[in-house]
Formats: sequence, C-alpha cells, structure tokens
Amino acid sequence: MSTIASISTAPGIGGIGIIRMSGKECFNILDKIFKAKNPQKIDEIKGYTIKYGNIVDNENIVDEVLVSYFKAPKSYTAENMCEINTHGGNIVLKKILELCLKNGAEMAQPGEFTQRAFLNGRIDLVQAESVIDIINAKSEKEAQTGIKQLEGELSKKIKEIKQDILDVLVNIEVSIDYPEYDIEEVQNEEALNMLDKVKAKLQLLEKSFDSGKILKNGIKTAIIGKPNAGKSSLLNAILKEDRAIVTEFKGTTRDTIEEMVNLNGIPINLVDTAGIRETTDEVEKIGIKKSRKIAEEADLLIAIFDSSKDLEQEDLEILDMIKNRKSIIILNKIDLNQKIKEDDIRLTEVTSNIISISALNKIGIEKLASTIEKLFNFNEIQLDNELVVTNVRHKNLITKAIKNTEDARMALKQNMPIDIVTIFIKNIMDDMGEITGEITTEDVINEIFSKFCLGK
Ligand code: GDP
Repeated sequence: MSTIASISTAPGIGGIGIIRMSGKECFNILDKIFKAKNPQKIDEIKGYTIKYGNIVDNENIVDEVLVSYFKAPKSYTAENMCEINTHGGNIVLKKILELCLKNGAEMAQPGEFTQRAFLNGRIDLVQAESVIDIINAKSEKEAQTGIKQLEGELSKKIKEIKQDILDVLVNIEVSIDYPEYDIEEVQNEEALNMLDKVKAKLQLLEKSFDSGKILKNGIKTAIIGKPNAGKSSLLNAILKEDRAIVTEFKGTTRDTIEEMVNLNGIPINLVDTAGIRETTDEVEKIGIKKSRKIAEEADLLIAIFDSSKDLEQEDLEILDMIKNRKSIIILNKIDLNQKIKEDDIRLTEVTSNIISISALNKIGIEKLASTIEKLFNFNEIQLDNELVVTNVRHKNLITKAIKNTEDARMALKQNMPIDIVTIFIKNIMDDMGEITGEITTEDVINEIFSKFCLGK
C-alpha cells in the first residue's frame, strides 16, 4: 500500500494543526523534511515518541513542530505513522502537506486512515463505522454509543451470534454424519431451539434500533399551529435553550429543511422550520394542507394554540390531525388572559400531554423537554447494559438475518433436505459477516468510507 498524507485538523485558524502520514515510506519521507533538535536514527526512536524540531524546505524553516512517531502495528492504521503538530493556520499546513506529497506521499482519500485500520485487520467494519458516528455525534448519548461500538461491544455480540449459528450447523451436521443412528428427530428439535435463541438475540438488536434511530437522527418533530399561534416564537425559544444548533440540512423527503437541536440532551430534529421562519405573509403561513404533509413524516407532533383565544375550526382540524399520534399540545401565551385551559375536554380527549407556556417569555420550555423525554422513554435508553444498533446498514442486515432464521426454521420443521437447511443457516452467517465486514463487497466498503472526513 502507498504512503498517504493528509491534513487532519479542521480547516481554518486554530491553535495547532496536524498532518498525518501513514505507510511504509512514512519515516523516509519525514526524514527529508524534518530536522529534529535532537536527531536520532529511526531504529532508535521508539513508537509513541514525540520529537521536537523544524519542518524544512531545503534550508528554509517552514514551521517549528512536534512530531509523534507510531510504529507498525501499534498505530491507528496499524502501519508506520507520524503526526506532525504544527502551529495552526492554513498556509503552514498546506505547505507541509505539499512537502510530504513532493517527497513521495499520496494524498489520502476521505476516511482512508480508518479504512486502512480496517483493511489491516486492526478493527472490523462496525468499529470503523463507529468512528464516523463519534465524529458526527449530535448528543452525548450518541457519542457514548459510538464509543461502545468502537470498543467492540456490538462486534462481540455479532461474534457470539455467529458462534451460536456455528453450533446449529454442527448440530445439524451430526445427523448427516451419522444417519444410521436415526437421531434426526431429536437433533431437529434441538436445532430448532437453538435457532429460536439466535432469532431472539437478533430481534433484541433489531428492536434496539428504535432507540438507535433517535440517538442518531433525533426525534423528527413537526410544530404545527395556525398563523400567529406562536410557532416561530416557540422555535426561537427552543433554539435559544440550546445555543449549539448542530446541523441544518435538507430533509430526506421533499424539499423540507430540518434542523437538529439538543434540548436538554435529547436530540430533536425539527422538520421544516425554515418554512415557519421565512414566511412572513400571514396567508402563506403554514396552512393546514402543508401541515398535514409535514405531519405525516414526523415522529412527534407539537400542536401549538394561542390560549388567549378560543379554539376555531382550524384548531379543531389540527387536533384531529394529531389524534392517535405521538403528540404534545402546547397552550401558548399564558401571560395573556387564558380562554383555553389544560383541562379542556376537546384537548384532553386527544392527548394527556398538554403543557402551558409562554413562548415569547420563554416560560415552560423545560416542561416541553421533560414531556418529550417521557414520551420517548429517552432516559430509559440504557447505554450501560444494553446494546443499541444505530446504523441502518447493520439494522437491515439484522432484519435479513431474522428472515433467514425463519426460513431455516421452516425448512427444518418441514424436514427439508439438510443441504437446503444448511444454505439458510449459512445465509445468516453471511449476514453477520457483512455487518463486521468479513464478506462485504469493495463497493460497500468504499461507500462507507467516502462519507468520512479527510484526514480520518
Ligand atoms: P406563528 O405565526 O405561529 O409563527 O406565530 P409567531 O411566533 O410569529 O407569533 C405571533 C405573534 O404572537 C407575535 O406577535 C408574537 O410576538 C406573539 N406571541 C408569541 N408567543 C407569545 C406569548 O407567549 N405571549 C404573547 N403575549 N405573545 C406571543
């Protein structure tokens, strides 16, 4: 494999910048551009050593740096690696990267360092994918799940399931090896039980994705209400609670804008907030028809009413819309004279989640957070002792494996030829192997790593 180099710190001005290099030639290239204050031969330098000196371009000093040495296989990529710590700033970093490239390194592709860690067998695919999850984490819990997966928790579980499947195979093959013993019946019964156990384990993982999805994508939330109810004021109040808006991105369906906020640690994905904020024209402000569309794709509907006015036809339509959905009713403007109260039967028959707030004065926003927390059992996502699948690729393979378990079970029950049963069981094995990357195609692998940032 070639020697690769890349700037690993984010672009812009910062205290320090880091250039990473990995591969066989890494120390030779370094030797040409780095003059240590206390020079040593590379053989004498132990891994995990930091040396101080200058990066030079011929005789010119480019920057005063610290270089960390990592020797194969004890490095991030499991290859020889070095990290050059420079003063932050684009010019110096670019110049040093150029020097690395000029002296034989190749520009690293996004995620290539992690891809090498995977290809060199230091980590499996699940662990590699967790790296990007940690980097992109939008809440502490999401980051924690990423760390657990990087530590190999999910991989361990997959390994355990693979062992279970192997045991089933062995069990079945016994009846092929010793057909004269007429033990097929008994073995079948045992194999069926074993398959059921595999299925139960897989189902537990599949179910964890409900929480995993929330951790990763946030609770998809739509705020609906008629013009002037206070939607944009509520939005501003929520955004104010959390100064760190993480991302604003185009919605996955249609042309909606989604915005991730972190409300008391709960990741909330607000759908079509731009529509709410941008339209000043009262007539154009979120109409019922548009709300219906947005509501369809949300996990949570927040219906907001101006409590200083009685409910009107449009409000009743909104109430109808949120019926039988995960929803919260907000009575806004409690600083004014209240015409509608929390115990209003027209509201209570729709949901028991009713809270009163003043969006304008930012009163009651924390009640909204705690209600969401309860509705989604957010605090019960036990990261300590429960594995959470957050990656949709993993989830789909787990679902496929469950289907294969069912097929294998059926084949066994119907006394199909053992060869056929074995095929189904081996399919489950393959599904697991695809998760950890043992039998994943190059295309899939490239696709996964292309989503990484440069230098990781
Ligand atoms: P939207 O049309 O649903 O987005 O509503 P806005 O957020 O634009 O609010 C409509 C009007 O109601 C604005 O003049 C707000 O200042 C006002 N408003 C919003 N929330 C409150 C509140 O809690 N109390 C009072 N008194 N006025 C509010």
